[in-house]
Amino acid sequence: MSKRVAIVTGSSRGIGRAIAETLAADGFCVTVNYNSSPDAANEVVSQIERAGGEAIAVQGNVGSPEGRAALMDATLGRWNRLDLLVNNAGITSPGRLDILEATPENWDLVLDTNLKGPFFLSQAAANAMLAQIEAGTIPAGKIINLSSLSSYASSPNRGDYCVAKAGLAMMTQLFADRLGKENIQVFEVCPGVIATDMTGPVKEKYDKQIEAGLTPIHRWGQPEDVAKAVSAICADYFPFSTGERFNVDGGFHLRRL
Ligand code: NAP
Repeated sequence: MSKRVAIVTGSSRGIGRAIAETLAADGFCVTVNYNSSPDAANEVVSQIERAGGEAIAVQGNVGSPEGRAALMDATLGRWNRLDLLVNNAGITSPGRLDILEATPENWDLVLDTNLKGPFFLSQAAANAMLAQIEAGTIPAGKIINLSSLSSYASSPNRGDYCVAKAGLAMMTQLFADRLGKENIQVFEVCPGVIATDMTGPVKEKYDKQIEAGLTPIHRWGQPEDVAKAVSAICADYFPFSTGERFNVDGGFHLRRL
């Protein structure tokens, strides 16, 4: 089988959906993962198939060992191959509580979903890729982690989310370091303010901030902006790079005076 195979976590909606559809158009077979939206995930699969691509929808909570195992088993069972893991699934901080009010329950949920899940799924994917590379069935592998500007910009009403995303940035460096010699590249894609369900509840706030010049590029980011960055990385124009952060944020990260 010559087509490359990708798992995109949380690809029933938003940024993950755009990444799944773009990778499928690039020629990847794609596992479309969801947690609670089977209809949305099936619609993404149908869309990919209508466009001539190949995909399956797989339910699995990335925050649970069973969910991660289901994802790996379904993907390898279907295609017997894995070239790329995109750790995209994520949740915002429930209730957006001030750090003086934050609860251990919310902390566990956000950290399990946004950091522990990607860590152990990366471990499983890397081990599967290593076995294939050693067997000569794939030449190389890639892992791409979707972090956030919240990995370095403080929002005290989303402490758990910020800490999880900061951890994901270090996780990218750890896996990049360990897997460089194994021919598996690891990258961080760092979105800014992107128009999805996640930012829906704070749309008015961000509308005003963008209008007031929050970012040098004066507009909301779109899921397709992020998907293009992932597609570019997967087009193999960065063969001597690993551990890089790709900002997709309209210039938010620039320090300005
Ligand atoms: P979204 O619109 O809320 O979509 C989230 C996706 O993740 C959905 O497909 C959802 O599946 C899935 N998901 C949630 N919890 C899951 C779990 N436990 N297991 C498996 N899948 C799960 O979010 P988004 O805005 O596209 O964000 C995607 C990623 O980008 C996240 O990691 C987010 O932190 C990051 N990000 C977003 C922004 C932004 O401005 N939007 C900015 C920076 C970074 P269901 O449909 O089944 O619930």
